[in-house]
Amino acid sequence: MYQFVKLAGSNLERTFLAVKPDGVQRGLVGEIIRRYEAKGFTLVGLKLMQVSRELAEQHYDVHKERPFFSGLVDFITSGAVVAMVWEGDGVVASARKIIGATNPLTSEPGTIRGDYGVSIGRNLIHGSDAPETAQREISLWFKDEELVNWQPSVISWLYE
Ligand code: GDP
Ligand code: MG
Repeated sequence: MYQFVKLAGSNLERTFLAVKPDGVQRGLVGEIIRRYEAKGFTLVGLKLMQVSRELAEQHYDVHKERPFFSGLVDFITSGAVVAMVWEGDGVVASARKIIGATNPLTSEPGTIRGDYGVSIGRNLIHGSDAPETAQREISLWFKDEELVNWQPSVISWLYE
C-alpha cells in the first residue's frame, strides 16, 4: 500500500473538470490535461463519455430556468466528453483560474478559454465553482471505485 506523505497546512481538495464536445473535437484534450499536470495537480479520475440527457440536466440543474439551458444540454450530449477529477492544494479555485472567464472573448490570454475559444456556447471546458459543488459533481459523474488514490513521487518537490 502506498504511504501518503502528510502535507502540513495543506488544503488538499478535489475538483471536477470536463472537456466539452468542442474541446474533444478540436483535439485539445492533451493540451488541457498537460496544463493541469504541468501545474502540479494530480489526476485521480479520467473517462471518455457519451453524456446522457439525464446526466447533463442534473449537472446543469442550477441553470434549468435560463434561456440557454436546453441548448447547453443539447451541446453537452452532442459528442464525446472527457470527465476528470483532479486533486491538489486549492485545486478548485486554481483550476477555474486556469480555465478563465465564462465568455472566451473576455477570458484572459493564457487561460484555456482565453487561448482557444471565441464563443460562450463553445467554451471548451467545465470546472466546479466551489468545493461543495465539486463534491456534488464528482459523485454525480464518478463512482468511488473509478477514482484512484495515489500520490506523485515528486510530492516533496511540489509542496513545502
Ligand atoms: P462556467 O461555470 O464558467 O462554465 O459558467 P456558468 O456556470 O455560468 O454556465 C455554464 C455554461 O453554460 C457555460 O460554461 C456556457 O457553456 C453556458 N452558458 C452560460 N451562459 C451562457 C449564455 O449566455 N449563452 C449561452 N449560449 N451559453 C451560456
Ligand atoms: Mg458554472
